[in-house]
Amino acid sequence: MTAKLLINSSYFIVALLFILGLKGMSSPVTARRGIIWAGAGMVLATLVTFAWPGMTNYALMVVALAIGGGASWWSGAAVKMTDMPQMVALYNGMGGGAAAAIAAIELFRGATHNTMVTGLTVLGGLIGTVSFSGSLVAFAKLQGIMKKVFHLPAQNAVNVVLAAATVFAGIVIVATGEATALRIIGFFALALAFGAVITMPIGGADMPVVISLFNALTGLAVGFEGYVLNNPALIIAGIVVGAAGTLLTQLMAKAMNRPLTNILFKPITGEAQAGGGGVTGRLKEVTALDAAAMLRYAQKVIIVPGYGMAVGQAQHKVKEMSVLLEEAGIDVKFAIHPVAGRMPGHMNVLLAEAGVSYDRIFDMEEINNEFAQADVALVIGANDVVNPAARTDKSSPIYGMPILNADQAHNVIVIKRGKGTGYSGIENALFYDDNTHMLYGSAQQVVNDVIKNIKEMAA
Ligand code: NAP
Repeated sequence: MTAKLLINSSYFIVALLFILGLKGMSSPVTARRGIIWAGAGMVLATLVTFAWPGMTNYALMVVALAIGGGASWWSGAAVKMTDMPQMVALYNGMGGGAAAAIAAIELFRGATHNTMVTGLTVLGGLIGTVSFSGSLVAFAKLQGIMKKVFHLPAQNAVNVVLAAATVFAGIVIVATGEATALRIIGFFALALAFGAVITMPIGGADMPVVISLFNALTGLAVGFEGYVLNNPALIIAGIVVGAAGTLLTQLMAKAMNRPLTNILFKPITGEAQAGGGGVTGRLKEVTALDAAAMLRYAQKVIIVPGYGMAVGQAQHKVKEMSVLLEEAGIDVKFAIHPVAGRMPGHMNVLLAEAGVSYDRIFDMEEINNEFAQADVALVIGANDVVNPAARTDKSSPIYGMPILNADQAHNVIVIKRGKGTGYSGIENALFYDDNTHMLYGSAQQVVNDVIKNIKEMAA
């Protein structure tokens, strides 16, 4: 009785910590604190497991904790900011896999459950397995291990047949109440194949949404298995992850103007990407001195950071430059596209790390109308999020995605290393516009050169 009371009271605290953590993560100002709250909840939920009635194999639990905790601590510390999306995909896959493993063990050990609980076991197993194999494919793609886009001839038909076969195999287990080894293995093998096959053709710009969707699915699977094990902490964690993942998926799909059905069933393929060309004109190169002059004599500058700022680790220099310009009386604002970089909030995190004041940072819909009044739009390592083809070129794979109106500024300066395309792999007409000036080099070095020139002008 005392153990049960201790466990349930701890789970109540765990639930509060998860909710506080999630609330904290909703703003860059409190995100770090949010992660600590949620992490503390996880630690408490894990420790309480040792007091769970019937637990005997403590040594095995400690070994599992040491392996899992050690691997995640090491990888969390070692991962580069730019590799974070694949790390999220991998951890997410592990969550789905863990839920699926619970389902498999429950089925294999022939636990006597009623039909509803067996149904939830199978459902959680299905969702968790799809999320597991799908997330691993997403990881392999983002990590560059799987380079080709695999598109089967009748992809959508194959998806439907695999989905139907998996659901049928699950129904057989629930309806007959006989989970034979063959049926269980067949069911999980089909679910694994379905998760992998549905993810393989998805590429480029759609991947973050898919990872977020798998995240939501993992939460759902964990919640179902929590019900099966009668474990409130799992149910709460599952619901929180499922709800947050679903909302994030919707927000990202909306930000890219790609309905989820299009992302899953009409993926952007290599051929489609190649189709987004047709750009004509000439690239006009400027020096750091030219750029410094344009910025120093402007009244209003809007900075558009993108993935290249993260790669070049230029955020601290960008902050230094923005302060210099502000001190010279120039109105400087940052425009953040919802999918700039490689993960939601990527740019906000970097700018917060560099200490850029939050009241200088604006979301796309808040600032898009201001570009027309800006003397300079300074694009730092951004590409797809300022590509006007999204507005005008119906054949472009990013057609329909809302973009930042950088092209409407009086002058545009683009900092990038060379002729590299963005994540979607297509050319950008903005770079060829008459009022666009290319400033080549790695972002940190180039911004540093611009800073030096601005300082010399002031001296
Ligand atoms: P982007 O379209 O990927 O373009 C990044 C640009 O940065 C490239 O053209 C590259 O050109 C330049 N670059 C790379 N390293 C650089 C460096 N060291 N210094 C200066 N420039 C550098 O980036 P974005 O405009 O931020 O758009 C994000 C894209 O990623 C979208 O298509 C989005 O859908 C997708 N995506 C987003 C997320 C997310 O959740 N935010 C996740 C995954 C994918 P050079 O090679 O010529 O330098």
